[in-house]
Amino acid sequence: MSSNDLPSVALAAFAGSPGANLPALRGHNAALVLGLLRTAGEDGVSRPELAAHTGLTPQAVSKITARLRAEGLAAEAGRRASTGGKPATALRLVPGARHAIGLHLDRDELTTVRTDLAGEAVAVRRAPLAFEAGAEQLLATAAREVAALRAESDGTPVLGVGAACPGPLDHATGVLHRVTGSPHWDGFPLRDALADRLGLPVVLDKDTNAAALGLARDLPPGAGSFGYLHLGTGLGAGLVLGGGLYRGPRTGAGEFGHQTIQWDGPRCGCGRCGCIEALCLAAVARDDLPGAARALGVGAANLVELLDIDRVLLGGRTVLAHPAPFLDGVTEALADRARTRGGSTARAAIPVVLARGGPRTVADGAAELVLAPLFGAVPAPRTT
Ligand SMILES: [Zn+2]
Repeated sequence: MSSNDLPSVALAAFAGSPGANLPALRGHNAALVLGLLRTAGEDGVSRPELAAHTGLTPQAVSKITARLRAEGLAAEAGRRASTGGKPATALRLVPGARHAIGLHLDRDELTTVRTDLAGEAVAVRRAPLAFEAGAEQLLATAAREVAALRAESDGTPVLGVGAACPGPLDHATGVLHRVTGSPHWDGFPLRDALADRLGLPVVLDKDTNAAALGLARDLPPGAGSFGYLHLGTGLGAGLVLGGGLYRGPRTGAGEFGHQTIQWDGPRCGCGRCGCIEALCLAAVARDDLPGAARALGVGAANLVELLDIDRVLLGGRTVLAHPAPFLDGVTEALADRARTRGGSTARAAIPVVLARGGPRTVADGAAELVLAPLFGAVPAPRTT
């Protein structure tokens, strides 16, 4: 692949959107270099280190870094001693060189964030939203909020918009399916409609996937696994396996809330009965938080049995309103599971923690939908 080709993931992400102006961000190799610069933070990385970790020739690294510096995306981060030759100049990412926008389209609220290239939020807005009310109201609210967020900006170029909403939906085509509780959205091309209205490239994904993608920034490159369980107005999961977000071939993975765990249980918004979501929300509605946590814990234990993940992260407004009973309930369910499985104590203790970001986890992750493809998949550093 030529260094001028946009990575296929980025092409897929921006397909159907108005032209993204990303001259220096093009290319698989540039994405590898940018990924290493992003991970290194303020300390930066020297060109020999970039060559060693990407497998690129020193000449290729020099060409790419010159281009990134010319675009203002990379800058010198001081000199560092090297064994043998002359001190090498370290390069760092310039996080403020470009911005991304993340939209969390929740059922009753729109959270909009503007982030820098490091994924750190620099501005946040919140507005009421009626997701049920249909396209025109949603598009108008999104356009107004994005315009307001851009008006507050210092003029930093915006790469694109990541939009996260309840699923199910098709991430590849940007078309909604029968969104639980809002089946009238079925077949609506939300990504393209947003791109037309906002005049920016848009990437659309489920709220849970966006959150998980943002949270995966905390993992070592290409390693680690977790399930992000989001209990808000609905219940879903984002799955990160082997360091990468798992969407599945039809991008339908993570419909965690619609596992049937009580076949004659209460009717669920999806049309079936006894789903974890229905049991959880029914318990929350009668103020039985330990009961809701038990249902969530059964699902979390099933997930750990199925995928052998490293940790479980909890988020969503229902959890954030009362974190303790949910953390306790899910921890207890996983401890129960571990007791029945035996094995070493290290394997038994699957940590259950609150996800980073609080009420902004999904919106921050939505911005990461735009950023992640630009930073490529970075191979693990060599250990020799
Ligand atoms: Zn259901």
